[in-house]
Amino acid sequence: MEKHPGLMLLRNERLLAGIGMEDGSVRLLRDVRTGIDYIANAASAEPFRLETDAGFSSEFESFECRRDDTAPGEARISLTWRTRSNVAVHGWASLAEGADSLEFGCSADNGSEERLLSLEYPIIPNLKEITEGGEDDYVAHAFATGLKVRNPLKHFVHGETGWRYAPYPESFSGASMQFFAYYGMNKGGLYFAALDGEGYAKWLNFYKNAEGFLEASFIHGCEEMGAGKGIYPVYPVRISLLEGRDWHEAADLYKAWATKQNWCARGTLAQRRRSGDTAAWLHDEIGAATFGINAGSDRTLWLRKYRELIPTPIFHVLGPDWTNEPQTFYRGFPGGFDDWFPTRFHAGNLACLREMGDKFAPFEFDYLYRFDGADGELGRAAAQKMPERIKSIDAYAFPFLCPAHPYTHDFHVRRDETLQRTDDVDAIYYDISANNILKVCMDETHGHPVGAGKAIEEAYRRNYADTKAAMEAVAGQQVPLGTEMMNETLLGVIDYYQARAGGQPAAPLEGWPLRELLKTGVAELIPMFAYVYHEYGAVRLDGWGKLVEEIGSLYYFTVARTYLWGGLYELNYEYSPMEALDGAENAAEDHYYPFEARGYAFSEERALYLAMYARLRTGPANKYWAYGTMLKPLEFSCPRLRMDWFHYNHGTKSKEYNDSGELDADAIVHSAWRYEKESVGLFFANVGKEGLILRVRIEPERYGMSGMAAWAYGQDAHRPAAIRLDRQPSGETEFDVPAGSVVVVELTI
Ligand SMILES: [Zn+2]
Repeated sequence: MEKHPGLMLLRNERLLAGIGMEDGSVRLLRDVRTGIDYIANAASAEPFRLETDAGFSSEFESFECRRDDTAPGEARISLTWRTRSNVAVHGWASLAEGADSLEFGCSADNGSEERLLSLEYPIIPNLKEITEGGEDDYVAHAFATGLKVRNPLKHFVHGETGWRYAPYPESFSGASMQFFAYYGMNKGGLYFAALDGEGYAKWLNFYKNAEGFLEASFIHGCEEMGAGKGIYPVYPVRISLLEGRDWHEAADLYKAWATKQNWCARGTLAQRRRSGDTAAWLHDEIGAATFGINAGSDRTLWLRKYRELIPTPIFHVLGPDWTNEPQTFYRGFPGGFDDWFPTRFHAGNLACLREMGDKFAPFEFDYLYRFDGADGELGRAAAQKMPERIKSIDAYAFPFLCPAHPYTHDFHVRRDETLQRTDDVDAIYYDISANNILKVCMDETHGHPVGAGKAIEEAYRRNYADTKAAMEAVAGQQVPLGTEMMNETLLGVIDYYQARAGGQPAAPLEGWPLRELLKTGVAELIPMFAYVYHEYGAVRLDGWGKLVEEIGSLYYFTVARTYLWGGLYELNYEYSPMEALDGAENAAEDHYYPFEARGYAFSEERALYLAMYARLRTGPANKYWAYGTMLKPLEFSCPRLRMDWFHYNHGTKSKEYNDSGELDADAIVHSAWRYEKESVGLFFANVGKEGLILRVRIEPERYGMSGMAAWAYGQDAHRPAAIRLDRQPSGETEFDVPAGSVVVVELTI
């Protein structure tokens, strides 16, 4: 047997792992069947990093490790490092018989007067390329709602590009779910996951280290910080071998665990629809969305124009300009109750929406608070205290309320219950809220432990749930709750969320740290969150579009992808004017952000394109796109298209303002869905201007189906046209996808 001097080994017929006897660092990780060694030799490595108020340190005074094979059928190594200041860091790694995954756990006993802030363990250092030159290597991460980067060893930069600190649950600057994967396509790879069903604060990191290799690590937040208080994560970290079957392989592993957690306990949307436990209108009737149209100024001309061309109800998250004291993007927002009421909605807007059957939600910065406004003193006492060293790309430089303070809870519930009573809203929307904020509060007077990731997370959930219940009691019906971004921990209370990554590079915000890689296609959006959770809910609004020619031809691709991935396309009016109607657009003076005039004309042609998808979403594709389970897409070849884009809908001082470029993408957007056990829908959207003939291997029996038929939906026809499928005995199937249309191949029992 091969010798590995200086290492303690965990070994079975699938996996070989080695831990350094001198320092406890992970030195060897081998897939025994393929012979792939994932870790480079001879590079230095740190076994753990302990964070105190003084900073991060992996120094220790003594180290011991021992075999600890106490559980039957499981090999286990226990490690203990003792620091100069009398902290004992414990780690363990185990490998079960026949398993293709390692499990790790850790804790820190604090015998010192220092505060422990976090513990980083395990660290899997010095990961090298898997395929030749790394060219077919990818990292897929639950950052935002899922991003995939090709050849991270080449494109990540130490100290810059990468996910050095990816907080969870925090999907603006970190992760919406607890897994990521590093793999070489069709060769092998590693799956990294924390299996925590209770929402503890942690960080899922994948970055380039100082040695020039890739490194994966998990940081566990300290739930109660203070002299003598330690860190005791209750969940394991799992690292499994992959075969390299793209990111879906890792997502399948995660999904098997994730959908059994509490946040899915309400059941699937289809089940909830049947029992009346969801607002059916949001899923069944809404064909498109808008975001940021002024709530306080007459916008009925535009509202009517959209509905003239889009035949389905539209869901509008109206802009923030409805509060008593201004709620703006550049000069202030409300404090306590009297800053919010009486409200200032434009009555004509609401009457117009109701008359047309549209629905609306008011926009709230629900956790931002003007401390010199109404009830400023109450707000100041409840202010969230961020740590001095923030492990995130975000500085969280806003005056937040701590969700765990009793005032915050009572104010949150009372404000929105009153809003429901005074303005009969259809839904509610929260910006810069639970999904974007670090789950930590260092205040010692709020009644929660200092640090307190889980207590903060639970407080957000409770505040949302209690507020929603209070609004629904007034409304006598379901009031959907929406937020900026989405985390799995809040699936039980959030009905919809706003994302922007689908509009990148012609969109701002989440995804920005990888913007340059997104512009070249090295980084791309993947529907990771939808793949794991779509049938459990939270409708995604995405796109960041406008109905104008000037935003470029990428629009057609983005619209198609948003719908085919189960979302609603969102027209966005936050940082720039609305489309010019008869030469007139809305004035900056009315708006909550001082945008520059544009004069870009409303495009009927683009509205009609959107209308086609709105009809599909509320019609024949509804059971898949609103209620379906996303399946791994089929593989086939299709031409690439070069699409242009122009991004002007953002802060005039931001770096990306007025940025433009071209992006290559597939001419066919494709997705595959299952609706319960009933049927499978395979969608092919042609986003180009020329008809294409596709050749795809389709095997209904793989899905337990036997019937097969296909239709094309076009912009002009209000009825689907039958599509001829030319099938070979092998399953190879040829069919036409007319320009600008969507073909669905439906498989039935
Ligand atoms: Zn607090």
